[in-house]
Amino acid sequence: MIRTAHERIGDLFAAAAIEARGRHPELANRYVRLARRIGMRYNVRLPPEYRELYCRSCSAYWAEGVSVRTRLRSGRRVRSCLLCGATRRVKIRASVAAANRLPPTELRPADEVDAVVAEAPSQIDDAELESEEDG
Ligand SMILES: [Zn+2]
Repeated sequence: MIRTAHERIGDLFAAAAIEARGRHPELANRYVRLARRIGMRYNVRLPPEYRELYCRSCSAYWAEGVSVRTRLRSGRRVRSCLLCGATRRVKIRASVAAANRLPPTELRPADEVDAVVAEAPSQIDDAELESEEDG
């Protein structure tokens, strides 16, 4: 039963991604609401790659530029729901890991790709500094 619930959740999010930019974007929100209800009904967590894709307040499917606005502010990625106004703040470093888990069909906001590029050199620098201190 748990495997089936995961399959249904995956199918609903795949359908939501299609409908969000299609003729009936309101269907995407409906699919998210159903997927969340399936998760609650069978006590299954939504996989982490899906948990960034919807509003936790109103269950709207978040399509960048359509139903969500993403801004980088004070080292955090702030995503604002354009339907209900709820905001979700995630520290950049944590959000980079989540962005790397996004399904390949989902378009990444340019902000997140820039954050990944900006993060990489600083991590290398930190590692080099530590090795110099050891020697
Ligand atoms: Zn919302």
